[in-house]
Amino acid sequence: MSVQILCAQDQMQTADGNLTIYPVLHGSLVLQWKGMDILVDPYGGGKLYEKFEPALVLITDIHGDHFNANTLQELNLKDASLIAPAAVAELMSDELKQKTQVLANGETTSWNAIEIKGIPMYNLPETADSRHPKGRGNGYVLTLGGKKVYISGDTEDIPEMRALTGIDVAFICMNLPYTMDVDQAADAVSEFKPKIVYPFHYRGGGGKFSNTENFKDLVESKTSQVEVRLRNWYGN
Ligand SMILES: [Zn+2]
Repeated sequence: MSVQILCAQDQMQTADGNLTIYPVLHGSLVLQWKGMDILVDPYGGGKLYEKFEPALVLITDIHGDHFNANTLQELNLKDASLIAPAAVAELMSDELKQKTQVLANGETTSWNAIEIKGIPMYNLPETADSRHPKGRGNGYVLTLGGKKVYISGDTEDIPEMRALTGIDVAFICMNLPYTMDVDQAADAVSEFKPKIVYPFHYRGGGGKFSNTENFKDLVESKTSQVEVRLRNWYGN
């Protein structure tokens, strides 16, 4: 099976213009809509984002592969707004904090005709000392031009993900030991049935990659209603 090169772009029509999706690196992607570049968890250095002009930056959690102060520093955020959970805002410089709206799990905000909702993301069993305790980080659902985009953040197979409805595009993490394995991810996806799913964030401990081809096969064996898109998230 062929895998596209890094920063291949995918297009999708919305009720108000095209949405372009750029897989960037690991858990990071860029959504382009109505001339706005929306960066999710920029990581890996500013160079990867050279061709974008950040308008909105979403951060999911405190770890360096999501909130990456060095990469943020290398971006031109002069005209950008950020949305992040409180735990991330606490780690920010004052300058960054001033541009940031804090959003908690379950809260919804809107920004330039985009609705943004914070979705829980956490490890199971749910304990305060887990790598991802419930309530600290945000997954996000973005609604733009009538399309719903779900970004999982670092989560395990949680009921809040399975309960999502009407998702057009989902970005689902799968790496061990930090999030979930491909079986859990495929099982959850086959329940909430996003129209399109991109496995991402699939490099785990010791640089070991989860088998996304296996994920695709598993999803396709459970349902024909979900299109799995494999992209190269680790091209450089
Ligand atoms: Zn992560």
